[in-house]
Amino acid sequence: MKNEIVSEEYIELQKKLLDVQKRIEEQIDQEHLTVLVEDPFKIPHLPLYTQVAFNVDRNIYLEAFKGILGVMVKSQPSLQNDASIFGKIMDANLANQWIEEALSMNEYYFVSWAEENKVESWLPYFMAEQALRPFMRVLAKLYEAQIKDVAKTAKHCPCCGEPVRLAQLEQKGKKFLVCPRCYAKWQEKKLSCSHCGNDDHQKLKYLSVERQKEAQIQVCNECNGYIKVIDTSAYIQKPEPALLDILTIHLDYIAQEKGYGDIKQDTQKQN
Ligand SMILES: [Zn+2]
Ligand SMILES: [Zn+2]
Repeated sequence: MKNEIVSEEYIELQKKLLDVQKRIEEQIDQEHLTVLVEDPFKIPHLPLYTQVAFNVDRNIYLEAFKGILGVMVKSQPSLQNDASIFGKIMDANLANQWIEEALSMNEYYFVSWAEENKVESWLPYFMAEQALRPFMRVLAKLYEAQIKDVAKTAKHCPCCGEPVRLAQLEQKGKKFLVCPRCYAKWQEKKLSCSHCGNDDHQKLKYLSVERQKEAQIQVCNECNGYIKVIDTSAYIQKPEPALLDILTIHLDYIAQEKGYGDIKQDTQKQN
C-alpha cells in the first residue's frame, strides 16, 4: 500500500525501529514482566497493564532506548547533539521515571523535560514510548485470549489504553480491531461503531478511498468517531499493525478533514 503523505525514507526508518523493538521483545523475560493472573480484567474498562503487576525491566528498557536512539541518529544526524545529552543524563532513576510517565501517556512531562534539557521537544516522549512498546507487545501476547474476551465493547485498547483507530478485514469479511501500540487484536461486529457501540446501520457510513479498494474509513454519525478498515484478506504477509497504521495515515487526514475524530463523550455506552 502506498500513499503520498509518508515518504519512503520515513517508512524505512519505521521498519528499522520495529526491528530494534522485535530484538528487544525476544529478551523480555515473561515471568519478570508480569504475574499471570486468571482474571486480569477485574475492572473491565481499565487497561490490562494497570491490573496485572506489569513490571518493565529497567536494564532491557535502557537497551531498547539506546537501540532506538542509534537508529534515530543514523537517520537524522542533526539529533547527535540531543543524543549526547541523553547519554549524559539517562540513568536508572530517570529510566524508572520515564517508564512511569510513558505508561500514563504524560506528554506534558516529556515536553517540559525537553525544554529544561534543551533537546527537540518531541524527542523524549517519542523515545520513551518507542522503548516501552516491546514490553506492551509481550504483555498483549501473554494475555491474547483474555483480551479477545473482554474487548467486545472496548473503545480503547484493553491492553494498553490506546484509543482504537485501526481494523483489519480478514477471511470471510471478519473485522478485527488491532492496536498499533501493543498489537492486541480482537474481533468486532462488522457493522458496529468501535467508539460508541452504535450498530444502527443508518448512522454508520463507509468513506471509500480513491484508487485504494482495500482501504475504507468507517464513520459514525452518532458519536462522530471513525476507524480505518483495511481489507488484508488478500495479503500474503500482513504488515505489522504499527506499520499498517503509518501506511494508512492519509485515511486519518481524510476522516479528520471531513470533520470526524472528535468523539462526543455522552454517546459512549458504559461498559
Ligand atoms: Zn494496545
Ligand atoms: Zn459511534
